[in-house]
Amino acid sequence: MTHNMSDSVNIVGSGIVGLISAYKVHQKLRIPVRVYDAGPDPRAQRNHFHSFGASYSGLDARHISITETGPWTDASREELIERSPAEGGWNCLASVTKNQYEAAWQQEFKSIARDADRHATNSQQVFAANKEGLMAWAELHRRKPKLFAPIFDTNYLTIICTNEADLVDEYEGEKRLDEGRVKNLQHTMPVGYEPLDQKFRDGILHGSFTVAGNAYNIRKLCVNVIDYLEEHGVEFHWRNPISLVDGGDRVTELPPGDIVWASGVSGGMSSFLADKKILLQGVLGCWVDIPNQGFSHPFKIYGKEPTNFINATPIGNRLLLSGGYGWVGTRAHAEVTKLAKPTMQAFLHEVSKFFFDGRALSDKYPLATCIRPSLPSGVTQIEEITYQDRRVVTCIGHSAGGFTQSAHVADVVVEKLSS
Ligand SMILES: Cc1cc2nc3c(=O)[nH]c(=O)nc-3n(C[C@H](O)[C@H](O)[C@H](O)COP(=O)(O)OP(=O)(O)OC[C@H]3O[C@@H](n4cnc5c(N)ncnc54)[C@H](O)[C@@H]3O)c2cc1C
Repeated sequence: MTHNMSDSVNIVGSGIVGLISAYKVHQKLRIPVRVYDAGPDPRAQRNHFHSFGASYSGLDARHISITETGPWTDASREELIERSPAEGGWNCLASVTKNQYEAAWQQEFKSIARDADRHATNSQQVFAANKEGLMAWAELHRRKPKLFAPIFDTNYLTIICTNEADLVDEYEGEKRLDEGRVKNLQHTMPVGYEPLDQKFRDGILHGSFTVAGNAYNIRKLCVNVIDYLEEHGVEFHWRNPISLVDGGDRVTELPPGDIVWASGVSGGMSSFLADKKILLQGVLGCWVDIPNQGFSHPFKIYGKEPTNFINATPIGNRLLLSGGYGWVGTRAHAEVTKLAKPTMQAFLHEVSKFFFDGRALSDKYPLATCIRPSLPSGVTQIEEITYQDRRVVTCIGHSAGGFTQSAHVADVVVEKLSS
């Protein structure tokens, strides 16, 4: 079925993808926009962790850079998805029986990791989307700086490597990917803080380089966008889950118009999306909020699996740390917290090594977790489909770099709705 240009749009999901899509549709197409979210209005909530998707939980801070989503199915990761976190892997489901969706996701992940051509194609797509995202955010920031306040505006991110090989690999990779943007490769202390400097001298840290990037307060940005859109006539419907699952089909209750499906991890479980073979599942992320020990710039420490990168963002007297990968399949958050304990412990261990000289973290700094929506390929799925004679644009599955890519995803959504 062919569709004409949209005359109104219903957006399912008010995470960063749904919101930036709503913003851009409103700005560029000038048509009525309605946003539906299963959760309550985030502006009225305090301890809201876990009742929302990834954008409102998982810390206020997010980094955007070209490497924010890495090419995650490389050959070395074929086994990673089978190993438990205690053995340096990502698989939190080892001890439980996997359901058919989880078995298929794991199989797909492994087969991509084994296939150099598919891996290369995916990597190109991921980095291209990251780069577009980076530029789209910069453009938006130039046009509407007020939406971004407060912002940690640095225009670069420092990446610290824990071993020489990673340093060289990452640096070379960066150079290949984005010639000209890498400012320097240095074996000195980059972030202005003596205890980390000591770790360079002890050989725990090996060097650093900087890439173009920034850190934003994602939750504040979302709230600013909601305020702005409401002022400009966009309708928000909170506590309003839209179901596309067999027997509970509430899509018919949506007013006429096209649909943008931006539900993060939870929407992937509807039969509507499963039919399209979109196997969207959860990968755990961890975060902790510790006192800022004197850092002025956001940076990353490239550590060990399953922690991978630790993203560190100073906001005044707080230092927000996030990292960790634990594949938790289709499990609900309550179950995930038990299954993913080893991933959480591994993350805490790394945090303690770099920021507390190996001492146990005090209970004052509780660890929290959130689930990243992820496809086995790590590539965002933006697809136009027809459902009950309506155009539906799905934009889901963007994994760890979902924030980086979201401004670009919104541009693609607008393009699809305007054709
Ligand atoms: C700890 C952590 C650190 C991260 N760090 C970074 C980073 O530094 N850089 C980066 O680029 N990315 C990062 N990410 C990833 C990024 O935050 C996510 O990819 C992104 O926020 C996902 O946005 P989204 O809009 O797709 O989904 P979500 O934010 O999950 O939003 C989906 C929304 O849809 C709603 N919803 C779901 N189902 C329905 C339904 N049926 N009906 C109505 N509403 C529904 C949910 O309530 C939710 O509000 C991080 C993630 C985590 C967890």
